[in-house]
Amino acid sequence: MIQFYPNDFALRSLMLIFSVGLFFLEITRRRAAAAVGGIQLLTSANALIVVNVALFAFHAKVPASLLIFTSTLSMITVALMTLAALRRFAAKHVSLWKYLCNFLLSALALAWLASMGPNLPLSIALLAAASTLLFALGFIEVNRLDANGTAEQLCAGVLLCLCLTNLVRALTILAGLVFELDFIFELLPQDIYVSLYSTFMLTMIVTFIVMVDGKLQAQLTILATRDRQTGAYTRTVFFELMTTELMRVQRTNAPLSFVMVDLDKFKTINDTWGHRVGDKVIADFVANTTSTLRSYDLLGRYGGDEFVILLPNTTRDEAKAVAERIRQRCTSSTTAGIPPYTISMGLCCTINGHIKLDDFIGAADQALYRAKEAGRNQVEACDYGVAIEDSIAHVTPPHAISMPQAVLP
Ligand code: GH3
Ligand code: MG
Repeated sequence: MIQFYPNDFALRSLMLIFSVGLFFLEITRRRAAAAVGGIQLLTSANALIVVNVALFAFHAKVPASLLIFTSTLSMITVALMTLAALRRFAAKHVSLWKYLCNFLLSALALAWLASMGPNLPLSIALLAAASTLLFALGFIEVNRLDANGTAEQLCAGVLLCLCLTNLVRALTILAGLVFELDFIFELLPQDIYVSLYSTFMLTMIVTFIVMVDGKLQAQLTILATRDRQTGAYTRTVFFELMTTELMRVQRTNAPLSFVMVDLDKFKTINDTWGHRVGDKVIADFVANTTSTLRSYDLLGRYGGDEFVILLPNTTRDEAKAVAERIRQRCTSSTTAGIPPYTISMGLCCTINGHIKLDDFIGAADQALYRAKEAGRNQVEACDYGVAIEDSIAHVTPPHAISMPQAVLP
């Protein structure tokens, strides 16, 4: 038999590996614990592994059964903490009481089975089966995350490996392939289990740190580009994105629609119901709009109760239908705690690539003005070229402006 663990070299290697994991988790915790959940728990889980490995240094002095008891209990605690960490990372509620009860039940089950002497292998098999379940739940948790990058996929992969490793361990023990208690440390399956567990666990810790980094980046991007109150793009970012879209349209001549929205008589809502209710109305408008828009449409906050929407690849009729849908959703909103409210919208569409940003915005603004003038709670549409010609026709030519004559006394 290969004696792999706990020989001194393997023990020190494991200590070193998990101390490095602990070091990087601690750095991540200090950097990101306020913004991303779960780091504290995984750091504690890693610390528990280090303590557990350290206990094996005393294997000559401590009875093997006690060592197996503490290590198996630690492993299930680590699996529980890992699951709780992944749930916190996904911003889900974690009931520590529930986890504590699970832990105590496991400890009691283990103690009861261990006290029956020959059934210690059975107790270890059961706890390996419990770890299998916990890692399987962790695997499902990571698969449900919104982000699905390489780190998330790798994390899910190693959680599945941890799950399978524990399953095989439980089955081999149950099948009686392993072990006579006194020789547990000298047996190959135990060696393989420890090395696989360590490799997968450390990979999981590394992928978790990368996932935390990705989440921090995403949060920073949101902070830099979105209006805090509503989640819509800030005015600056919206018009930067719109400029890029205009350049694309100049190449492709694809239809592009731009909508300006203003909440009707919003000042009256604030004055009647208070600003907090006003804020809820704005939030309701944004929710109705985002649920109507496609993923590549853009919603920005122009300022106050005015919003802007960009609809790429959308003709005037299509844009009008989208705007009408948003208007109707807002008018018939049944959200609790807000009064009925309406919105007015002015939209402009272009099918000609040669557009000036300011003119495009100006044309939609004019359409919005007409919607307000016509009694609010409606959508007014225009085409870019026509709107520009109209506005030129309505500007009094410079030579026609009558300059006030200086009147001499
Ligand atoms: P109109 O139909 O002509 O648009 O009338 P209005 O009352 O909506 O127009 P006005 O521009 O006079 O009022 C907008 C009000 O929106 C004024 C401002 O105090 C309020 N407001 C702007 N931003 C917010 C916000 O984030 N929350 C709340 N509660 N009120 C806001
Ligand atoms: Mg308004």
